[in-house]
Amino acid sequence: MNADKQVDRIDARYRPVWDGVSPEHQRALSRYFLPARSQRTLLSPTRPRVVKWYCPFAHQEDFPSGHRYCINVYTGCTHGCLYCYAAGYWPKVAARKQRFAQQLAKDLADLDAFDVPPAAVHLSNSTDPFQPMELRHRDTLCALEGVLATRHRFTTVTVLTRNPLLAARPEYARLLAALARPASDHPGWPSWNESGFPPAVVEVSLPFWREEAARFWDPRAPGVKTRVAGIRRLAEAGVPVVLRIDPLFPREPANGIGVSLAAFGLEQPQTLEDLRALVSLAQEVGAHHVVYSAAKVVRPRFGGLPPAMVALRDLYARLAEPKRLEWSGGSWRLPRETIEREITGPFKNLCGEAGVRAMFCMESLLAAR
Ligand code: SF4
Repeated sequence: MNADKQVDRIDARYRPVWDGVSPEHQRALSRYFLPARSQRTLLSPTRPRVVKWYCPFAHQEDFPSGHRYCINVYTGCTHGCLYCYAAGYWPKVAARKQRFAQQLAKDLADLDAFDVPPAAVHLSNSTDPFQPMELRHRDTLCALEGVLATRHRFTTVTVLTRNPLLAARPEYARLLAALARPASDHPGWPSWNESGFPPAVVEVSLPFWREEAARFWDPRAPGVKTRVAGIRRLAEAGVPVVLRIDPLFPREPANGIGVSLAAFGLEQPQTLEDLRALVSLAQEVGAHHVVYSAAKVVRPRFGGLPPAMVALRDLYARLAEPKRLEWSGGSWRLPRETIEREITGPFKNLCGEAGVRAMFCMESLLAAR
């Protein structure tokens, strides 16, 4: 079917941003995203196998993603962070994807076959691509090779991990550095030159500075020293780094209520001194920026809330008084003004004093164009 006719059948929910896209871009996107042989009168975007996309046509008010991709290399994650934002939709057991390499190759070939305009890609938003099973399966290595081979189909490449030491191994660092140096005729250059954003970044999550805090909150992820070593090696290998000091927690004493976190049975996650040390690390390695957001209490899909998260929810409930916690997107959250007062405000001040750029997590995601 003619691409223009396809467009006429797009479900109204997916139309709001459509009109802002150039006709040439519309045709390429519709060929790629809309089911060409569908008999239905209304079309919704369909497609890929492992190169998942944020809907390029959807209403952008809540999540103004535009056209961008995510490759979740694995399903689930064995790092076991107590506050994991992805636990709400994980499978019971972390696993490898069936026929990942073949599916990836087909998706990447389709981007070329349909001549889809380039867009940003993230590896990975709901799993850690460098969790221990990568050592056995090497699917992340395969994904990075595939993205590099089709570099012209992707603008900014963002890799997110809590295991930078594995990412810094030569076979990965070589690919990551190459992704950060696209050919001079890559269509992303005007935007990168204007924004100063690197063409590829590794975002390393390191929200803690003391080993005991990391062991408590990220029990199976690499410890602080190991992550710091990995961050330094990535920077030495010429891979642009972003430090995710994320999530942020309330600090001792919890000012709004004047009680200690220990009264709630919680290990002190981050002191102001810890945060200062993390911001200094970001400066030392020349991190492009740091990313922050306040911890949410996510209801896991399986197994119920861990005791520490029940305690954090209780602490949040006290901090929020006289308001109540907000329930949104599968998690309990503090009211916005409490977050700003207790958690993010002091952190942003600290970054400002150090001259380090701090970006809220959504701001950072969208800055990678
Ligand atoms: S590393 Fe990321 S995906 Fe894995 S458990 Fe921790 S927060 Fe969740």
